[in-house]
Amino acid sequence: MNVTQAEFIISAVGPDQYPEDGLPEVALAGRSNVGKSSLINKMIQRKNLARTSSSPGKTQTLNFYRINGELYFVDLPGYGYAKVSKKQREEWGKFIESYLLKRDRLRMVIMLVDVRHPPTRDDAAMYDWLTHYEIPICVVATKADKIPRSRWQKHIKQVKETLLVRGTDSVVLFSSETGLGRDELWGLILERTGQ
Ligand code: GDP
Repeated sequence: MNVTQAEFIISAVGPDQYPEDGLPEVALAGRSNVGKSSLINKMIQRKNLARTSSSPGKTQTLNFYRINGELYFVDLPGYGYAKVSKKQREEWGKFIESYLLKRDRLRMVIMLVDVRHPPTRDDAAMYDWLTHYEIPICVVATKADKIPRSRWQKHIKQVKETLLVRGTDSVVLFSSETGLGRDELWGLILERTGQ
């Protein structure tokens, strides 16, 4: 995918701020620090459009990026950050839940995990929740450059087994450093958004 235009549109704090031009949306979910901003930047070939977060877990907004005037990436707030209060967590849940359940133009959720470590309970809960509501998912195992190639398959297997990934869901090995997985992920996104 040749990205010729990538624009940050809005940090939305509620549904009345979501864009209304009807373009399909692909949301990105994952624990804070998993590498969401880095993945967005790699996908759109920009160094710094999606800010790599300095205070993880603090931003309770949905960040909309419009790509080539054709689709949106919607960056969801990172979950599972230890330093937020229980109340903040609950609010996170409600805000995200209503977006994920009610947004009719949402086509897929890209769920990021760190390929180096087994997915956490938060990751498993997220995957479970998305499958329960039949939201299409693509699991992206990122930071692949941080482990030797000889261990990739073993780690991917661990991700699949821990999350109980269904056979129909794709698992893409990714690296924001090297660009590994970028073309494959664009292929899946374009398939889903009907481009
Ligand atoms: P976010 O909180 O999920 O948006 O995570 P960031 O994109 O800010 O990434 C968190 C940290 O992991 C940063 O220091 C990134 O440079 C680093 N990082 C993210 N993705 C990769 C990757 O694929 N490879 C390597 N080596 N580092 C990465």
